[in-house]
Amino acid sequence: MPGATAIRVLVIEDDPAIRRFLRAALEAEGILVLEADTGRRGLVEAGNRKPDLLIVDLGLPDLDGLEVIRGVRGWSAVPIVVVSARSQEAEKVAALDLGADDYLTKPFGLAELLARIRAHLRRRDLPQDGIDQKLRLGDTVIDLAHRSVLRGGEPVNLTPIEYRLLGVLVRNRGKVLTHRHLLHEVWGPSHADSSHYLRIYMGHLRRKLERDPAQPEFLITETGIGYRLVTEG
Ligand code: CA
Repeated sequence: MPGATAIRVLVIEDDPAIRRFLRAALEAEGILVLEADTGRRGLVEAGNRKPDLLIVDLGLPDLDGLEVIRGVRGWSAVPIVVVSARSQEAEKVAALDLGADDYLTKPFGLAELLARIRAHLRRRDLPQDGIDQKLRLGDTVIDLAHRSVLRGGEPVNLTPIEYRLLGVLVRNRGKVLTHRHLLHEVWGPSHADSSHYLRIYMGHLRRKLERDPAQPEFLITETGIGYRLVTEG
């Protein structure tokens, strides 16, 4: 039942069939849907109507979707979910590095879409630095404010690098973080190409925090792109 307080999602997408699908799916959740069929109109709508979240197609008839993301990020931190075709992996990375929060590959499932949207709206509602809340992952409780990680009540020993990596993931929970972004945040700008560091340290974190490190529930690999911390199923 959309009203003054309904969540508003702006869909910037030129394919009318996908817009219809998204509208039906989101409206069924009580979300108010705004639509734009070009990048320029999308930028105007994003500015005028202040949506709570944007869904942006990368292949738009006028502007590139990347330009739309760059434009919106110039003045807004609104969550941005990119939709794109599977063949555009490099574009997804570019979109995430420009400040998009997430991507969905067409065709995508409804449950997946709604779960992602909920995760981003939840994160938006967290305090700005996101650190004064405890986060629970299975039997692990992470408390960044007190630099404490407990698993089953017992302290987990993390090295400074492991702790820093976990901190970046926790502060950006739900968001897809590219290899480049994580390397930059954890190791600094000179290590942007050292993806093997990430693989190694993600392995350490999984062994310390996951029930089955080979089948992680929380520290998820986004193949060819990066990692995501998932906090609910
Ligand atoms: Ca398109």
